Amino acid sequence: LKRDPKFGEVTADDVTYFKDLLGAQSAVVDGVTTDAADDIEPFNSDWMRKYRGHTRLVLKPQNTEEVSKVLRYCNERKLAVVPQGGNTGLVGGSVPVFDEIVINTSRMNQIRSFDSASGVLVADAGVILEVADQYLAERDHLFPLDLGAKGSCHIGGNVATNAGGLRLLRYGSLHGNVLGIEAVLPDGTIVDSLSTLRKNNTGYDLKQLFIGSEGTIGLVTAVSILCPPRPKAVNVAYFGLESFEQVQQAYLAAKGQLSEILSAFELMDGRSQRLVQESTGNKQPIEGEYPFYCVVETSGSNAEHDMAKLESFLENVMGEGIVADGVLAQDETQFQSLWRWREGITESLSHLGGTYKYDVSIPLSELYQLVDDCRERLTQKGFVGDDDSFPVRAVVGYGHMGDSNLHLNVSVRQYNKDVEKAIEPWVYEWIQKRQGSISAEHGLGVAKREFIGYSQNDTMVKLMQQLKSFYDPNGIMNPYKYI
Ligand code: FAD
Repeated sequence: LKRDPKFGEVTADDVTYFKDLLGAQSAVVDGVTTDAADDIEPFNSDWMRKYRGHTRLVLKPQNTEEVSKVLRYCNERKLAVVPQGGNTGLVGGSVPVFDEIVINTSRMNQIRSFDSASGVLVADAGVILEVADQYLAERDHLFPLDLGAKGSCHIGGNVATNAGGLRLLRYGSLHGNVLGIEAVLPDGTIVDSLSTLRKNNTGYDLKQLFIGSEGTIGLVTAVSILCPPRPKAVNVAYFGLESFEQVQQAYLAAKGQLSEILSAFELMDGRSQRLVQESTGNKQPIEGEYPFYCVVETSGSNAEHDMAKLESFLENVMGEGIVADGVLAQDETQFQSLWRWREGITESLSHLGGTYKYDVSIPLSELYQLVDDCRERLTQKGFVGDDDSFPVRAVVGYGHMGDSNLHLNVSVRQYNKDVEKAIEPWVYEWIQKRQGSISAEHGLGVAKREFIGYSQNDTMVKLMQQLKSFYDPNGIMNPYKYI
């Protein structure tokens, strides 16, 4: 990749303009002027520390008007920008590639309104997901999205990536739950589509374009979202299984027997659980080692009834020999600690070195086969072995079983081009053969930009390019990324 010379470079005059507009405390500047040398590094590198940009200016507007003025100015000066929320994205989309200006949403963090009758929350893009959920909890409602990065990611970032998370199985995708969006186009136009209506068939549903657009056509400044009542009872079970065949049987049984109260069905392989154990030092919830583990959660309105259903499900699958051993959370502490065995995997991997991450959708019957095939391939090529001289530490699989969404993660001591070449594009060809998706929920960002053709045909890519140039004719929004 080369810096596109059509983009302007940030000057001291630009910095003065932005500081006058936003206030000095809303700009982090490095190297353009002599008056400030705040720490700009965290905005330049991603959560995995895999991608590193070279921005010299970070702007933190406080409201939509300010975003509009910033973008209009950048568009006129052809200054490239990167929208950034909590910077927890896993495909390098939220950091600059070269010297693009970072527009960070952390100061746009107000809840605008909540209507308990309809359950519709309207909030600024920079509200942290967990903060939104806590606000809703106090009002007996729930944010219809939950994921391991909830303490840092912003709801604008969630919408921009169309994040899926742990309870999509129950509450559905953001394409269904987001009722309205306010966004700013690169020329400064404010797109006010902040509807709170569930039904609104008056022309094209343009807000959908922003959901999953990864900051390439505009900056989302606010969201209205439909939030369900908070379930009165939430229970969770953790269990071990001997084969992936049995995982599938357990999933079918869970759907049949837990039906309307089933809220999550997550898969973790034995290797991923050993990594969590090594990194946390915690004792695993059940004795013995199994190649597969699952977390099953129920959410309903009657604690006793739900617990009885979950207990009878577990008795049933254990009686039938589908599940080898299992445990139910008896209180809130156990509930949290069982979930940590699933939610802690990404973090545990991050302590080991580098991780090649593949977040894919594949038909359920072949979901785990990809992990076995990848491990075999890397072993044959001499990258996997018993001691520290081999570059690969672990090949693990886990994910959202209920959504047919697998996370294949190859943990390496250091990022290694030979290992990368052995996995890519092999992994994308494997997925294409099964009509899967090379990115189920993390998006394309910079990591998968070259591989979109494995999941979208030429016509679709061309239509996307046309939309991009219509919304962003100067190409200033998140350049060098997927489109
Ligand atoms: P950022 O990382 O800051 O940005 C992500 C992308 O969105 C970038 O392209 C950026 O330019 C763009 N963007 C950000 N804000 C805006 C805006 N206001 N307007 C326009 N564009 C914007 N993802 C899942 O889907 N499911 C999971 O279960 C899941 N689990 C995770 C667990 C961990 C531990 C971590 C670290 C990440 C996980 N993710 C998961 C990744 C997920 O994409 C992000 O956590 C989240 O959705 C991104 O939000 P963010 O605010 O951090 O966005």
